[in-house]
Amino acid sequence: MSLPNDVLRKYQTAGKIAREVRQELKRFVREGQPLIDVCKNAEKLIGEKGGKPAFPCNVSIDEVAAHFTSPPNDKQIVPSNSVVKVDVGVHLDGYIADTAITICFNPAQTNLVRTAEKALETAVKTLYAGISTSKLGTAIENTIKAHGCKPISNLTGHQVGRYLIHTGKSIPNVSHLFGSKIKGGEVIAVEPFVTVVNGAGKVIEGDQKTIFRFVKHKSLRNPYAKRLLQHIERSYRTLPFAERWLVGAVPQQHLSEAFQELLRSKCLTSYPVFIEAHGKPVAQAEHTVLILEDGCEVLT
Ligand code: MN
Ligand code: MN
Repeated sequence: MSLPNDVLRKYQTAGKIAREVRQELKRFVREGQPLIDVCKNAEKLIGEKGGKPAFPCNVSIDEVAAHFTSPPNDKQIVPSNSVVKVDVGVHLDGYIADTAITICFNPAQTNLVRTAEKALETAVKTLYAGISTSKLGTAIENTIKAHGCKPISNLTGHQVGRYLIHTGKSIPNVSHLFGSKIKGGEVIAVEPFVTVVNGAGKVIEGDQKTIFRFVKHKSLRNPYAKRLLQHIERSYRTLPFAERWLVGAVPQQHLSEAFQELLRSKCLTSYPVFIEAHGKPVAQAEHTVLILEDGCEVLT
């Protein structure tokens, strides 16, 4: 099984943009820098290179494992001595490349960050058409444990689909009994999440929600809510977005109320931040790959 040529080219181009943005962000992120500058710079770079963000740039610090992007007027900065995950997604015509790195300002956590990278390397070397997710998860888990760290068992990689970040298969980072087979032509995001050995090895949902997604239409009384929902569906379809992206969609004095109504009426869903259950630091490394008969092509 293989992808049509035009689809393959879109995945490859999205992947190249995502890789370049990731590399530029690695040089850009500094202690003391406003998180919103990191997010906005990532999203601006994606646009300049001809792509669109497949989701808001995630900047998740220390025990926050994933799903944080700056809310409007965010004043938070990159703390000193922190472990910073930057996760970017690019799409071309709905074909998604998803990639992440961890930038380490804490000298005590270099092994943690290195371990996430090693686990991703192992995954890339292990993948081929026909491998079970169970065998892959075991290889990832063994690499993490061999480096003296612990995998986050309830965060997984995922298959991507057109305009869909998580679809089809989940790709666990631990061994599990009932694996499914990964097939040739599938596009998969592999993303080991790693914590220290005395971490819980799992995440819980935090209270904060900064990333949202369209779910359904509903008759809405507030005309601004109606207009905002049309704007969201047209602009992002089924892809996640940030509240700060909505500025200008309806007059500013009605925006907050319209947005709250869309959440209340469940036209939108939100993604809570994920936090390491013992509050320990988390590192992540992620590539999107195309599965080939005898291996995989790293798109990012
Ligand atoms: Mn990602
Ligand atoms: Mn992902």
